[in-house]
Amino acid sequence: MVRARKAIVARKYFIETFGCQMNVHDSERLAGLLDQAGYEAAEAVGDADLVVINTCSVRERAEERLYTELGMVPGGRGGKRPVVAVTGCVAQQEGRALLERGQRVDLVVGTQALSRLPAMVDGLTGHRPERVDVNPYDNVSFPLGVARRSNPVTAAVTIIEGCNDFCAFCVVPYTRGHERMRPAAEILEEVRLAADSGYREVHLLGQIVNHYSAPDRPGCDFAELLALVDGVPGIERIRFASPHPRHVSDPMIGAMRSLPKVCRHLHLPVQSGSTAVLARMRRRHTRDDYLQLVDRLRAAMPDIALSTDVIVGFPGETDRDFEETLSLTRRVRYHSMFSFKYSERPNTLASKRLADDVPAAEKTRRIVGLQELQKGIQSEIHRARVGAVVEVLVDSTSRRRATELAGRTSGNTVVNFRAGPRDAESGDLLGRLVRVRITDSGPFSLRGELADSPAPRPSPPARRDAALGGAAGRQGSPSA
Ligand code: SF4
Repeated sequence: MVRARKAIVARKYFIETFGCQMNVHDSERLAGLLDQAGYEAAEAVGDADLVVINTCSVRERAEERLYTELGMVPGGRGGKRPVVAVTGCVAQQEGRALLERGQRVDLVVGTQALSRLPAMVDGLTGHRPERVDVNPYDNVSFPLGVARRSNPVTAAVTIIEGCNDFCAFCVVPYTRGHERMRPAAEILEEVRLAADSGYREVHLLGQIVNHYSAPDRPGCDFAELLALVDGVPGIERIRFASPHPRHVSDPMIGAMRSLPKVCRHLHLPVQSGSTAVLARMRRRHTRDDYLQLVDRLRAAMPDIALSTDVIVGFPGETDRDFEETLSLTRRVRYHSMFSFKYSERPNTLASKRLADDVPAAEKTRRIVGLQELQKGIQSEIHRARVGAVVEVLVDSTSRRRATELAGRTSGNTVVNFRAGPRDAESGDLLGRLVRVRITDSGPFSLRGELADSPAPRPSPPARRDAALGGAAGRQGSPSA
């Protein structure tokens, strides 16, 4: 039984975000909706009247992390207890149970009901507050220009929500619902607005982003959407995540090759190098299908950088299966990789039907071996770039040295580079494409110096404050 409690009128909010880019973008949208409803972003969680914990359950221990986070919510301004809302995948999965476990949770808002959060907070002062909404909502339209973006250079734009694939290990179809496409007109308008606000890069998001089919534009698939976005003035780069290998079509490859703004990077989740394991994962492609696709991509774009997701220790994975993952990794030579030890996720087909039978120590041995291999490959790829001049979109100050700037190549490699003191301090290069001569390399990034003086800025980007109270996503791309 949940006891009613005196409600608090929330004025300042703080959002803590876990998970993938999709969750980070959901928090940006939520922040915008709260701004619109008259709230202000708090500098720190202790200043907040409303604390939102936007959760992820793709990786293990999501609930433990939530409870740790709840334990860290302080008293709030003036000693008043803040309203605490749990949103995202754990909210969707657990629903009312989160209220009933005696935790400090006031509201539970599922992945499809996010836009209802401000009204639900207001409703807490009413007679019969609605404290849980994990209902499915088909409408994926979202008010344009509202998202409060946390990145000053790259604008995330959702194009698809949900997934129908039900890979055996994946919780996404259960937490995000069935696949729903956003109208192309709305996507394009959001990209135009982002360009007008000074964003130079657009990042199209979807659980299977390349399964896109416009509900409002007959025949418009992902390749055509790329072409439409490429035509938006002011946008200089287009990225997307995550595509599924079985939906990489010839028109999509053709669009990537011919459209100048589409980055030469493809995140192509493989999950395993063994056809037997892929079948148990219900991935609907084989090792050979995947390798043939890599060959097609490289034939069309010899300079394309590939990255991937891998799960080790999936049920029934033998030493031989794992060796196939290693041999595929050697063959493809990924530019980067997110690798994970398998763990059961609630409701998934694997958790219901397959025994988690690879011992924990063996999973650790395998992931250490895979990561060592991948690190060596990345080191070699990066070393070969030393001496080259690469084009970098500047997006931040270097994490390690305040006198250096950082950005990414078209292939998504991080480059830290020395800039003049004025450039580093003024932020004038933020959001600009510059040429950098690579002087040094490591397994995870490149280092260099400006190859030439950048041309004067055509029009200053309208930089927006990093708006979210909490940390942004801490994981890679879990979808597809
Ligand atoms: S891994 Fe990707 S394609 Fe598979 S069910 Fe999850 S979101 Fe869908």
